[in-house]
Amino acid sequence: TVGKVVLETTATSFPSSHRKIAEPNDTPYFVENEFRLSTAESFIDVHDPATNNVVTRVPQMTKQELQDVISSAQKAFPSWKRTSVIARQQIMFRFVALIRENWDRLAAVITLEQGKTVADAKGDVLRGLQVAEAACSGPEYMKGEILEVAKDMETRTYREPLGVVSVICPFNFPAMIPLWCIPIATITGNTVVLKPSERAPGAAMILAELAEKAGFPKGVINVVHGAHDTVNILLDAPEIKAISFVGSNKAGEYIYERGSANGKRVQANLGAKNHALILPDADKEQTLDAIIAAAFGAAGQRCMALSVAVFVGETASWLPQLVRRAKALSVNGGFESEADLGPVVTPQSKARIEKLVGSAASEGANILLDGRGIKPTYYPNGNWVGPTIITDVKPSMECYREEIFGPVLSCITVDSLDEGIDLINQNEYGNGAALFTSSGIHAERFRNNIEAGQVGVNVPIPVPLPMFSFSGNKRSVAGGGSNTFYGKPGVNFYTQLKTVTSKWTRRDVEPSTMGLSMPT
Ligand code: NAD
Repeated sequence: TVGKVVLETTATSFPSSHRKIAEPNDTPYFVENEFRLSTAESFIDVHDPATNNVVTRVPQMTKQELQDVISSAQKAFPSWKRTSVIARQQIMFRFVALIRENWDRLAAVITLEQGKTVADAKGDVLRGLQVAEAACSGPEYMKGEILEVAKDMETRTYREPLGVVSVICPFNFPAMIPLWCIPIATITGNTVVLKPSERAPGAAMILAELAEKAGFPKGVINVVHGAHDTVNILLDAPEIKAISFVGSNKAGEYIYERGSANGKRVQANLGAKNHALILPDADKEQTLDAIIAAAFGAAGQRCMALSVAVFVGETASWLPQLVRRAKALSVNGGFESEADLGPVVTPQSKARIEKLVGSAASEGANILLDGRGIKPTYYPNGNWVGPTIITDVKPSMECYREEIFGPVLSCITVDSLDEGIDLINQNEYGNGAALFTSSGIHAERFRNNIEAGQVGVNVPIPVPLPMFSFSGNKRSVAGGGSNTFYGKPGVNFYTQLKTVTSKWTRRDVEPSTMGLSMPT
């Protein structure tokens, strides 16, 4: 009931405006299919980014509580592993239906804690829901192979779950990222300890509530809270066999190293600096609309946000129209129906973005549209940064080298397609890159030569649907990107291969022989 009170408090904010909650409840953790309040001594306030009102507090859970959750997940594993895939699939069908039924509620809590608009928060939920839907056919990917390898002898493969796996999430997709992992990890027979971002825990709590309703047995899905201390306990727990991490390079490179050193499988999706290359033969109106959406949607707080536009030749003359479109966007509280983009997540994030814009100006770039200092009428205390367009950017500038993670588009001009490709390839990140053109020949040249792992042609910047896999590369992933999220590679990540070779012969038909050398 504790959890339900918290969830109802947040849910009733939809679709009305951001209300001040007189006495915010603490966010509970979820173990043994129930919400429990932590006995923690320290808590982290979660603010509504549009008002900076405190909406809840998350505990820095105690060591003992975290250990109890891990033990519960460990205890649940053997029987969940033995549960038939068909039974697991039935639970997943119900989970999918419940997420759809609670779509508005999930979106509301995302808007309240993370700031994105309700329409965009619904997209956040949908992209996760689609992974859960695709996971219903997970057993298809788990099927083994069989081959008669010699006379009377065959080899078969099995995909077996790993055990307890942990998911460590960022703030920017509070529903999608947990849903990249929970459905695939559980359909394949693992149990999960998930840690949402301490800045946006609400969606994960609703997912936990729905998981219990869907019929997941006790201990299969668990949610813990806290910051670095919690992560360190998860990284060191011998019961945890794999870590799925999505977040910044700073945290992810550390988590990859420590998790791997402890013998765990780690998949880690990190930061980005996504470019779009615009050729003169592109459809101007469609290109400009696409750039605006990808640069400023979600206030630029997407790992697939477009942060650099590379204009080839005469397309630099399209900049005034780009600015006109950006100026027309409504920056407002995410519950306001006309809002195009909401606030950025924290005052610290706003300060960091403004500092990077300032550094661009002092390094000689031109701030063509300046989103600093804006304040929507009813939200004087929010973390506001309006759409910002910087031109004359050079790769040596801090605003180009750093991931800004705000509604800021840096613009560079080049003379040719090849010069643009070279520029993009020199960037250390490799999440995504897009080309705008009407030429198939140019598109093919871009596809062949660009190093980014997710390529858009007249599409900025595409996240592959769940039947594929998220395929960032270079510094946008840790460990060379061999463990990608969702799709068939996601099933492979959460399972280990077992090969069984058997021989069945009858001695009266085939006399036994003994040979000490390897058969040649
Ligand atoms: P973050 O790295 O600050 O936090 C992510 C998680 O790591 C949180 O749960 C946090 O508690 C934990 N954490 C943070 N610092 C830690 C540390 N030093 N030790 C242990 N744990 C730590 O990331 P964020 O600000 O929440 O998210 C934004 C970042 O995530 C951006 O860089 C963005 O590009 C990236 N991101 C990448 C993808 C992708 O698929 N490539 C998707 C979404 C977000």
